[in-house]
Amino acid sequence: MKIAIASGKGGTGKTMVATSMAAALAPIHNIQMLDCDVEAPNAHLFLNPTINEIKPASINIPTIDYEQCILCGQCVDICEFNALALLGDKIEVFEQLCHGCGSCSIHCPVNAITETPRKIGELKFGTFNKNRPFLFGELTISEPMSTPIIRQLKSNMKDDVEVTILDSPPGASCSVVATLHDADYVILVTEPTPFGLHDLKQMIGVISETGSLAGVIINRDGIGDSAVEDFLSKNGYPILMKIPYQENIAEGLASGKLLIDIIPEFEDAFLNLYEMIKEQIHEEIYH
Ligand code: SF4
Ligand code: SF4
Repeated sequence: MKIAIASGKGGTGKTMVATSMAAALAPIHNIQMLDCDVEAPNAHLFLNPTINEIKPASINIPTIDYEQCILCGQCVDICEFNALALLGDKIEVFEQLCHGCGSCSIHCPVNAITETPRKIGELKFGTFNKNRPFLFGELTISEPMSTPIIRQLKSNMKDDVEVTILDSPPGASCSVVATLHDADYVILVTEPTPFGLHDLKQMIGVISETGSLAGVIINRDGIGDSAVEDFLSKNGYPILMKIPYQENIAEGLASGKLLIDIIPEFEDAFLNLYEMIKEQIHEEIYH
């Protein structure tokens, strides 16, 4: 089972939820944790995994053999990302725009294009609590594309675990869709403010694309108004948990503590949440 934790914007408490859920489940369930927020991974700061393998993450970009190239321009026309241009008597490759899809090399009529790997970041593999797998990716600063590294990270997931927790990037972009697309359940983390409601609506739009079951955790409960709860009740999304707005939570998180260490009652709350999610998935499959 794959459970993804997502939020419309950063700083909503997504990683707080993902890391505390992982830490609560790890002692008794066979879990793995993936931090897919490759532009700013920070789940490792809370779960302190031991990293034992680092691999480059790369995409294949075209290299043109100018001896062979007949300047037909087919590769330029086929590239949806404007990563190729015919400039004078040369095909220019704009490496940072290339998504590594391979279409240009497939369509070159004279096989003048070969593919060369270009490193865009790193994949890091390790373990936390009782040797549970912990995987995360780090996109190189200034690299624009996080989706390929997320796909590569996910292709290294283990299949023989009971549950995988995926900490999604913030926002509602392609990288979020790449994280959520095969999730059985998505936990959306929001806060009871107009901004929270705005981002929640965006995320629900993404969920309707991926078709995952979803429920909502309200963080910083007690600030703002009831508009988020009203929206959820009207649209049939369950409130899975409320996390109160308390200074000691913010202080604890800032010093690298898990929510379940700051407020130990949340350990049982996350274990119960997992059982509730399992039930919802079971009901969806068998009813
Ligand atoms: S590999 Fe794909 S994205 Fe990159 S230049 Fe070729 S067609 Fe464009
Ligand atoms: S498709 Fe091949 S031959 Fe045509 S311009 Fe591109 S590299 Fe050159």
